Amino acid sequence: GPAPAERMSRVKESPSSRVADRVRDFQAAGRKVLPLTIGEPDFDTPDHVKEAAVAAIRAGETKYTSANGTPALRRAVTARLLRKTGQSYGHDEICVGGGAKQLIFLAFMATLDEGDEVVVPAPYWVSYPDMVTVNGGRPVIIGTTAAEGYKITPERLRAAITDRTKWVVLNTPNNPTGAVYSEAELRGLTDVVRAHPHVSILCDEIYDEINYGAQPVPSAVTVAPDLRERVFLVNGVSKAYAMTGWRIGYGAGARWLCGAIGTLQSQSSSCPSSVSQAAAVAALDGGREFIDRTVGVYTARRDLLVSGLAAIDGLRPTTPEGGFYVWVDASALLGSVTPSGKEVTSDADLAEHFLDTSGVVVITGDSYGCPGHFRASFALSSETIREAVAGLARAVESLR
Ligand code: PLP
Repeated sequence: GPAPAERMSRVKESPSSRVADRVRDFQAAGRKVLPLTIGEPDFDTPDHVKEAAVAAIRAGETKYTSANGTPALRRAVTARLLRKTGQSYGHDEICVGGGAKQLIFLAFMATLDEGDEVVVPAPYWVSYPDMVTVNGGRPVIIGTTAAEGYKITPERLRAAITDRTKWVVLNTPNNPTGAVYSEAELRGLTDVVRAHPHVSILCDEIYDEINYGAQPVPSAVTVAPDLRERVFLVNGVSKAYAMTGWRIGYGAGARWLCGAIGTLQSQSSSCPSSVSQAAAVAALDGGREFIDRTVGVYTARRDLLVSGLAAIDGLRPTTPEGGFYVWVDASALLGSVTPSGKEVTSDADLAEHFLDTSGVVVITGDSYGCPGHFRASFALSSETIREAVAGLARAVESLR
């Protein structure tokens, strides 16, 4: 029978999907778990968005659309990008796909030849390196430190660029650290890219509306409009509008790139879901009420989780500027010993100890290319966050 292709050896299941399955297994077995792993808003999709989907179904908007999305959705995306970046994108400089995730995958498929390099700052979203390797590329990981705010500097970027570099991935706000690049920091990085005409920036801005700063999250294209053709902006409705299951993301960039992505969609999915696209139009055109309200709730939860974790001896949380995750330095706990006499030698050992002691599930730092840490989500009720903090405190105190 058919055997897996060689390329399957270059990709593994996403650690966040795997851990989500594990949480479901535990819950199904009747065990109480406190899943600080959650990677999606716990809010319901806004009612007006659901109504728009129902209206689309009733109106017969239930057929294939154009591969890169309906005119209505591309207009809504254009309007949103004009508000955010000051750049006016044409219809054929926009692509809509089944989530930001699919568009990033297709962008790599459309551009990477065997051995091409993609610079990925660590800690990174778990999917970037695998998306690069499965499409024939080579991820070039650059580490960042807490002292640098987990952000790459122009010097480090310059040092990582070779003749084979195609892309630099910038994720702002960052998953998992919550770091947001300032305009000045983006300018430093775009200056480096400007000097290397064979390099482009893939700017993943999926968390840009979950923003705790006073100013909107800056975009690479705003600080360097002259590089517009070499910046691929990726965003979507999943996180901002609690629409993860609707599977709609969008990209903006060079006409040829959006065209290539459209070609790949036309030969794979045909197009994103027509009904979900109608819902996404309502979300993008629907004003900021939902975002303002939910960001208010996230802010309170963020403060609760950060202050709770900071009070635990051995854990050092970073306060996120965006997104709904706290990145925690737990390196002080490596080398300690559990009450049953087991030495904690890895992130996995530590996570296992948290789970055994108090049912708290976290995603290990090594999944993000940064061992000695873990990611804790606060897309959860304050009640769950309080219980989880108490559980983590118990688990950490029990270590010798
Ligand atoms: N980019 C980052 C950094 C993410 O964390 C996620 C979701 O976890 C995505 C992209 C994918 O979002 P979408 O639901 O639009 O595919």
